[in-house]
Amino acid sequence: MSLDGVYDEGNVFALILAGKIPSVTLYEDADTLCFLDIQPQSKGHALVISKWSKARNILEIEDDALAQVMATTRKVATAIRAALDPDGLHIAQFNGAAAGQTVFHLHVHIVPRWAGQAPGFAAHAQGQFADADALKALAQEIRAHL
Ligand code: AMP
Repeated sequence: MSLDGVYDEGNVFALILAGKIPSVTLYEDADTLCFLDIQPQSKGHALVISKWSKARNILEIEDDALAQVMATTRKVATAIRAALDPDGLHIAQFNGAAAGQTVFHLHVHIVPRWAGQAPGFAAHAQGQFADADALKALAQEIRAHL
């Protein structure tokens, strides 16, 4: 998928928003949703999406939707810091397959980082799938700081 294209209503994040597949929610408001990544790059890896924008990438997103997504990103990043005490927070957003994007509904990654661990983003297929119960317990820990 290139930078140009049509929004696919069947993409995995659209299905999460429609309640058709499960996710572990950290935070939601009227405009945004934040949930834990199922193939986390580190403990607490979360994704923030707009609930209403059909933007595939940052070139398409409406200014207000982008502002809402970034406000939620900071809010949840603050809670992740309080809950997990990382040394750093990697905020990432990919546009187009050539840049590593695999889901074409704009999303922002929040990846807690600890000193001594490799900070690079792994190819997604290499990531381990997280245990569902462990994600739920972790979400409870982070949500306590929101
Ligand atoms: P990107 O490469 O920026 O498009 O990242 C897509 C991210 O979505 C990857 O980190 C995936 O692990 C994550 N992902 C894919 N499907 C799901 C899902 N059902 N629930 C949570 N995260 C997902």
